[in-house]
Amino acid sequence: MSEFDLIRDYFTGIGSRRADVSIGVGDDCALLRIPPETEVALSIDTLVSGVHFLPDCDPEGLGHKVLAVGLSDLAAMGAEPAWATLALTLPRVDEGWLGAFSRGFAHLAGEHGVELIGGDLTRGPLTISVQAHGLVQEGQAVRRRGAQPGDLVGVSGTLGDAGLALRLLDAGETPTAFLRDRLERPSPQVELGCALRGLASAMIDLSDGLAADLGHILDASGVGAEIRLVDLPLSEEVRDRVSASADWDLPLASGDDYELCFCFPAERRDQVAMLAERLGVRIHLVGRVLHGTGLRCLLEDGSTWRSGRGGFDHFPALDLP
Ligand code: ADP
Ligand code: MG
Repeated sequence: MSEFDLIRDYFTGIGSRRADVSIGVGDDCALLRIPPETEVALSIDTLVSGVHFLPDCDPEGLGHKVLAVGLSDLAAMGAEPAWATLALTLPRVDEGWLGAFSRGFAHLAGEHGVELIGGDLTRGPLTISVQAHGLVQEGQAVRRRGAQPGDLVGVSGTLGDAGLALRLLDAGETPTAFLRDRLERPSPQVELGCALRGLASAMIDLSDGLAADLGHILDASGVGAEIRLVDLPLSEEVRDRVSASADWDLPLASGDDYELCFCFPAERRDQVAMLAERLGVRIHLVGRVLHGTGLRCLLEDGSTWRSGRGGFDHFPALDLP
Protein backbone atom coordinates (compact mmCIF):
# COMPACT_ATOMS: atom_id res chain seq x y z
CA MET A 1 0.00 0.00 0.00
CA SER A 2 1.38 3.40 -0.95
CA GLU A 3 1.38 6.41 1.32
CA PHE A 4 -1.40 7.90 -0.82
CA ASP A 5 -3.56 4.79 -0.49
CA LEU A 6 -3.20 4.99 3.28
CA ILE A 7 -4.15 8.66 3.34
CA ARG A 8 -7.16 7.95 1.14
CA ASP A 9 -8.34 4.96 3.17
CA TYR A 10 -7.71 6.14 6.71
CA PHE A 11 -7.39 9.92 6.77
CA THR A 12 -9.78 11.31 4.18
CA GLY A 13 -13.30 12.40 5.13
CA ILE A 14 -12.55 12.11 8.85
CA GLY A 15 -14.79 13.98 11.28
CA SER A 16 -17.38 16.57 10.30
CA ARG A 17 -17.81 18.05 6.83
CA ARG A 18 -17.47 21.77 7.40
CA ALA A 19 -18.70 24.49 5.06
CA ASP A 20 -15.69 26.69 5.94
CA VAL A 21 -13.20 24.21 4.44
CA SER A 22 -12.50 25.18 0.81
CA ILE A 23 -9.84 22.46 0.45
CA GLY A 24 -9.13 19.69 2.95
CA VAL A 25 -6.95 16.59 2.53
CA GLY A 26 -5.45 16.14 -0.93
CA ASP A 27 -3.62 19.26 -1.99
CA ASP A 28 -0.38 20.89 -0.82
CA CYS A 29 -2.23 22.97 1.74
CA ALA A 30 -5.66 23.05 3.23
CA LEU A 31 -7.62 26.25 2.57
CA LEU A 32 -10.00 27.60 5.20
CA ARG A 33 -12.43 30.49 5.33
CA ILE A 34 -12.20 32.49 8.54
CA PRO A 35 -15.22 34.62 9.49
CA PRO A 36 -14.55 38.35 10.10
CA GLU A 37 -13.66 39.54 13.60
CA THR A 38 -12.64 36.03 14.53
CA GLU A 39 -9.36 34.80 15.96
CA VAL A 40 -7.95 31.35 15.22
CA ALA A 41 -6.75 29.41 18.27
CA LEU A 42 -3.98 26.91 17.49
CA SER A 43 -2.47 24.23 19.65
CA ILE A 44 -0.10 21.38 18.81
CA ASP A 45 0.73 18.35 20.93
CA THR A 46 3.00 15.42 20.29
CA LEU A 47 2.56 12.02 21.86
CA VAL A 48 5.54 9.67 21.76
CA SER A 49 5.20 5.92 22.20
CA GLY A 50 6.73 4.80 25.50
CA VAL A 51 6.67 8.36 26.86
CA HIS A 52 3.04 9.47 26.61
CA PHE A 53 1.34 6.15 25.96
CA LEU A 54 2.14 2.48 26.27
CA PRO A 55 3.33 0.98 22.94
CA ASP A 56 0.68 -1.77 23.10
CA CYS A 57 -2.23 0.49 24.10
CA ASP A 58 -5.57 0.27 22.33
CA PRO A 59 -5.18 2.19 19.01
CA GLU A 60 -8.82 3.36 18.97
CA GLY A 61 -8.36 4.94 22.40
CA LEU A 62 -5.11 6.49 21.18
CA GLY A 63 -6.83 8.05 18.16
CA HIS A 64 -9.35 9.51 20.57
CA LYS A 65 -6.77 10.73 23.07
CA VAL A 66 -4.43 12.53 20.65
CA LEU A 67 -7.32 14.68 19.50
CA ALA A 68 -8.79 15.05 23.00
CA VAL A 69 -5.53 16.59 24.22
CA GLY A 70 -5.74 19.30 21.54
CA LEU A 71 -9.46 19.93 22.06
CA SER A 72 -8.77 20.34 25.77
CA ASP A 73 -6.37 23.19 24.95
CA LEU A 74 -9.02 24.86 22.80
CA ALA A 75 -11.55 24.43 25.62
CA ALA A 76 -9.15 26.09 28.03
CA MET A 77 -9.27 29.28 25.95
CA GLY A 78 -12.96 29.11 25.23
CA ALA A 79 -12.36 28.49 21.52
CA GLU A 80 -14.87 26.52 19.42
CA PRO A 81 -13.14 23.51 17.80
CA ALA A 82 -13.08 23.64 14.01
CA TRP A 83 -10.24 21.77 12.26
CA ALA A 84 -7.32 19.47 12.98
CA THR A 85 -4.15 18.32 11.27
CA LEU A 86 -2.39 15.07 12.08
CA ALA A 87 1.28 14.12 11.62
CA LEU A 88 1.79 10.41 12.09
CA THR A 89 5.13 8.60 12.24
CA LEU A 90 4.72 4.83 12.05
CA PRO A 91 7.32 2.08 12.41
CA ARG A 92 5.36 -0.12 9.94
CA VAL A 93 2.01 -0.25 8.20
CA ASP A 94 -0.50 -2.21 10.25
CA GLU A 95 -3.91 -1.73 8.70
CA GLY A 96 -5.76 -3.10 11.72
CA TRP A 97 -4.01 -0.54 13.90
CA LEU A 98 -4.58 2.31 11.40
CA GLY A 99 -8.27 1.50 11.05
CA ALA A 100 -8.82 1.51 14.80
CA PHE A 101 -6.74 4.66 15.32
CA SER A 102 -8.60 6.47 12.56
CA ARG A 103 -11.97 5.35 14.00
CA GLY A 104 -11.16 6.70 17.47
CA PHE A 105 -9.99 10.01 16.00
CA ALA A 106 -12.98 10.29 13.64
CA HIS A 107 -15.54 9.59 16.35
CA LEU A 108 -14.32 12.32 18.68
CA ALA A 109 -13.82 14.73 15.76
CA GLY A 110 -17.41 14.16 14.66
CA GLU A 111 -18.71 14.75 18.16
CA HIS A 112 -17.08 18.18 18.27
CA GLY A 113 -17.73 19.32 14.69
CA VAL A 114 -14.04 19.03 13.78
CA GLU A 115 -12.81 18.19 10.27
CA LEU A 116 -9.42 16.58 9.67
CA ILE A 117 -8.02 18.85 6.96
CA GLY A 118 -4.51 17.53 6.42
CA GLY A 119 -1.42 16.00 7.88
CA ASP A 120 1.72 14.05 7.21
CA LEU A 121 2.72 10.41 7.17
CA THR A 122 6.30 9.26 7.77
CA ARG A 123 8.14 6.11 8.81
CA GLY A 124 9.97 5.96 12.14
CA PRO A 125 9.38 5.38 15.85
CA LEU A 126 5.64 5.68 16.64
CA THR A 127 4.96 9.38 17.24
CA ILE A 128 1.75 11.34 16.77
CA SER A 129 1.35 15.11 16.51
CA VAL A 130 -2.05 16.72 16.35
CA GLN A 131 -2.72 20.36 15.76
CA ALA A 132 -6.17 21.51 16.84
CA HIS A 133 -7.60 24.74 15.42
CA GLY A 134 -10.45 26.62 17.00
CA LEU A 135 -12.35 29.84 16.47
CA VAL A 136 -13.14 32.54 18.98
CA GLN A 137 -14.51 36.03 18.62
CA GLU A 138 -11.77 38.66 18.67
CA GLY A 139 -10.69 39.48 22.21
CA GLN A 140 -13.00 36.89 23.83
CA ALA A 141 -10.50 34.08 24.47
CA VAL A 142 -9.93 33.26 28.14
CA ARG A 143 -6.25 33.41 28.98
CA ARG A 144 -4.06 32.14 31.80
CA ARG A 145 -3.55 35.67 32.92
CA GLY A 146 -6.45 37.62 34.37
CA ALA A 147 -7.04 36.05 37.80
CA GLN A 148 -7.62 38.65 40.52
CA PRO A 149 -7.29 38.44 44.31
CA GLY A 150 -10.71 37.45 45.68
CA ASP A 151 -11.58 35.27 42.66
CA LEU A 152 -12.78 31.75 43.35
CA VAL A 153 -11.03 28.72 41.85
CA GLY A 154 -13.21 26.10 40.13
CA VAL A 155 -12.31 22.67 38.79
CA SER A 156 -14.42 20.40 36.54
CA GLY A 157 -14.72 16.63 36.85
CA THR A 158 -12.50 14.61 39.18
CA LEU A 159 -8.73 14.68 39.66
CA GLY A 160 -6.08 11.96 39.69
CA ASP A 161 -8.05 9.21 37.95
CA ALA A 162 -5.69 8.85 34.99
CA GLY A 163 -2.71 9.06 37.35
CA LEU A 164 -4.08 6.24 39.48
CA ALA A 165 -4.82 4.11 36.40
CA LEU A 166 -1.22 4.55 35.25
CA ARG A 167 0.16 3.67 38.66
CA LEU A 168 -1.91 0.51 38.81
CA LEU A 169 -0.86 -0.52 35.29
CA ASP A 170 2.80 0.13 36.19
CA ALA A 171 2.39 -2.10 39.25
CA GLY A 172 0.89 -4.88 37.11
CA GLU A 173 -2.56 -4.37 38.64
CA THR A 174 -5.85 -3.88 36.78
CA PRO A 175 -7.54 -0.48 37.07
CA THR A 176 -11.34 -0.33 37.14
CA ALA A 177 -13.06 0.34 33.80
CA PHE A 178 -13.78 3.89 35.00
CA LEU A 179 -10.12 4.64 35.75
CA ARG A 180 -8.94 3.07 32.51
CA ASP A 181 -11.40 5.17 30.54
CA ARG A 182 -10.23 8.31 32.28
CA LEU A 183 -6.66 7.49 31.19
CA GLU A 184 -7.36 6.30 27.66
CA ARG A 185 -10.41 8.30 26.60
CA PRO A 186 -10.44 11.66 28.32
CA SER A 187 -13.46 13.86 27.51
CA PRO A 188 -12.28 17.38 26.76
CA GLN A 189 -14.52 19.95 28.47
CA VAL A 190 -15.23 21.87 25.28
CA GLU A 191 -18.78 22.96 26.05
CA LEU A 192 -17.84 24.15 29.51
CA GLY A 193 -14.77 26.03 28.29
CA CYS A 194 -16.79 27.89 25.67
CA ALA A 195 -19.60 28.63 28.13
CA LEU A 196 -17.10 30.15 30.58
CA ARG A 197 -16.18 32.93 28.12
CA GLY A 198 -17.18 36.16 29.77
CA LEU A 199 -17.41 34.49 33.19
CA ALA A 200 -13.92 33.15 33.90
CA SER A 201 -11.10 35.60 34.53
CA ALA A 202 -8.43 32.98 33.76
CA MET A 203 -8.48 29.35 32.67
CA ILE A 204 -6.18 26.40 31.92
CA ASP A 205 -6.68 22.74 31.16
CA LEU A 206 -5.23 20.18 33.55
CA SER A 207 -2.60 18.17 31.74
CA ASP A 208 0.23 18.23 34.30
CA GLY A 209 -1.81 18.23 37.52
CA LEU A 210 -3.72 20.92 39.39
CA ALA A 211 -0.71 22.12 41.41
CA ALA A 212 1.45 22.83 38.36
CA ASP A 213 -1.35 24.04 36.08
CA LEU A 214 -3.02 26.35 38.59
CA GLY A 215 0.55 27.51 39.27
CA HIS A 216 0.75 28.65 35.62
CA ILE A 217 -2.41 30.74 36.06
CA LEU A 218 -0.98 32.29 39.23
CA ASP A 219 2.39 33.10 37.62
CA ALA A 220 0.74 34.57 34.52
CA SER A 221 -1.69 36.61 36.64
CA GLY A 222 0.84 37.77 39.26
CA VAL A 223 -1.24 36.43 42.16
CA GLY A 224 -1.22 33.60 44.70
CA ALA A 225 -3.92 31.15 45.78
CA GLU A 226 -5.01 28.86 48.53
CA ILE A 227 -6.85 25.60 47.95
CA ARG A 228 -8.48 23.29 50.49
CA LEU A 229 -7.57 19.69 49.83
CA VAL A 230 -10.82 18.35 51.36
CA ASP A 231 -12.69 20.21 48.61
CA LEU A 232 -10.83 18.53 45.73
CA PRO A 233 -13.23 16.53 43.55
CA LEU A 234 -12.15 12.88 43.80
CA SER A 235 -13.62 9.68 42.39
CA GLU A 236 -14.27 6.89 44.86
CA GLU A 237 -11.13 5.08 43.69
CA VAL A 238 -8.85 8.08 44.21
CA ARG A 239 -10.55 9.00 47.48
CA ASP A 240 -9.88 5.51 48.87
CA ARG A 241 -6.22 5.78 47.86
CA VAL A 242 -5.78 9.20 49.40
CA SER A 243 -7.56 8.16 52.62
CA ALA A 244 -5.27 5.15 52.92
CA SER A 245 -1.99 6.89 52.12
CA ALA A 246 -2.58 10.65 52.55
CA ASP A 247 -0.89 10.90 49.15
CA TRP A 248 -2.28 14.20 47.88
CA ASP A 249 0.23 14.15 45.06
CA LEU A 250 -2.11 11.73 43.31
CA PRO A 251 -4.89 14.30 42.69
CA LEU A 252 -2.53 17.31 42.68
CA ALA A 253 0.36 16.25 40.51
CA SER A 254 -0.21 13.09 38.52
CA GLY A 255 -1.45 14.75 35.32
CA ASP A 256 -3.53 13.68 32.31
CA ASP A 257 -6.80 14.85 33.91
CA TYR A 258 -7.92 16.97 30.92
CA GLU A 259 -10.37 18.84 33.10
CA LEU A 260 -10.56 22.64 33.35
CA CYS A 261 -9.32 24.85 36.16
CA PHE A 262 -10.64 28.41 36.11
CA CYS A 263 -10.87 31.50 38.27
CA PHE A 264 -13.85 33.85 38.41
CA PRO A 265 -15.10 36.79 40.50
CA ALA A 266 -16.97 35.61 43.63
CA GLU A 267 -20.12 37.50 42.61
CA ARG A 268 -20.48 35.22 39.56
CA ARG A 269 -20.74 32.16 41.77
CA ASP A 270 -24.46 31.59 41.10
CA GLN A 271 -23.99 32.07 37.35
CA VAL A 272 -21.23 29.46 37.33
CA ALA A 273 -23.37 27.06 39.37
CA MET A 274 -26.31 27.52 36.97
CA LEU A 275 -24.02 26.94 34.02
CA ALA A 276 -22.74 23.67 35.50
CA GLU A 277 -26.32 22.59 36.11
CA ARG A 278 -27.39 23.44 32.57
CA LEU A 279 -24.45 21.59 31.00
CA GLY A 280 -24.65 18.67 33.40
CA VAL A 281 -20.97 19.16 34.32
CA ARG A 282 -19.66 18.78 37.85
CA ILE A 283 -17.81 21.84 39.05
CA HIS A 284 -16.15 22.07 42.44
CA LEU A 285 -14.93 25.23 44.10
CA VAL A 286 -11.56 24.35 45.56
CA GLY A 287 -10.10 27.63 46.76
CA ARG A 288 -9.53 31.29 46.17
CA VAL A 289 -7.05 33.69 44.64
CA LEU A 290 -4.96 35.84 46.99
CA HIS A 291 -2.53 38.70 46.81
CA GLY A 292 1.07 37.50 46.62
CA THR A 293 2.57 34.53 44.82
CA GLY A 294 2.48 30.74 44.91
CA LEU A 295 -0.05 28.08 45.75
CA ARG A 296 -0.82 26.97 49.29
CA CYS A 297 -2.60 23.63 49.75
CA LEU A 298 -4.41 23.43 53.08
CA LEU A 299 -5.09 20.18 54.93
CA GLU A 300 -8.26 19.80 56.97
CA ASP A 301 -6.53 20.94 60.20
CA GLY A 302 -5.37 24.15 58.52
CA SER A 303 -1.74 23.06 58.10
CA THR A 304 -0.02 23.26 54.73
CA TRP A 305 0.58 20.18 52.57
CA ARG A 306 4.07 20.06 51.10
CA SER A 307 4.21 18.16 47.85
CA GLY A 308 7.12 15.89 47.07
CA ARG A 309 7.00 16.78 43.40
CA GLY A 310 5.61 19.15 40.80
CA GLY A 311 3.89 18.39 37.49
CA PHE A 312 5.50 16.35 34.73
CA ASP A 313 8.47 18.16 33.22
CA HIS A 314 10.30 16.64 30.26
CA PHE A 315 13.29 18.88 30.85
CA PRO A 316 13.69 19.28 34.60
CA ALA A 317 16.17 22.07 35.33
CA LEU A 318 18.47 19.74 37.28
CA ASP A 319 19.08 17.64 34.17
CA LEU A 320 20.24 20.54 32.04
CA PRO A 321 24.00 20.94 31.52
P1 ADP B 1 3.13 17.20 0.60
O1 ADP B 1 4.20 16.23 0.15
O2 ADP B 1 2.77 18.22 -0.43
O3 ADP B 1 3.38 17.77 1.94
P2 ADP B 1 1.74 14.86 1.31
O4 ADP B 1 2.05 13.90 0.21
O5 ADP B 1 2.48 14.74 2.59
O6 ADP B 1 1.81 16.31 0.74
O7 ADP B 1 0.18 14.76 1.66
C1 ADP B 1 -0.79 14.73 0.66
C2 ADP B 1 -2.09 15.22 1.23
O8 ADP B 1 -2.53 14.33 2.25
C3 ADP B 1 -1.99 16.58 1.90
O9 ADP B 1 -3.21 17.27 1.69
C4 ADP B 1 -1.82 16.25 3.36
O10 ADP B 1 -2.29 17.29 4.18
C5 ADP B 1 -2.66 15.00 3.49
N1 ADP B 1 -2.19 14.09 4.55
C6 ADP B 1 -0.99 13.47 4.64
N2 ADP B 1 -0.91 12.70 5.75
C7 ADP B 1 -2.07 12.87 6.40
C8 ADP B 1 -2.61 12.41 7.64
N3 ADP B 1 -1.93 11.58 8.44
N4 ADP B 1 -3.84 12.83 7.98
C9 ADP B 1 -4.53 13.66 7.22
N5 ADP B 1 -4.11 14.13 6.04
C10 ADP B 1 -2.89 13.76 5.64
MG1 MG C 1 3.40 19.56 -1.57
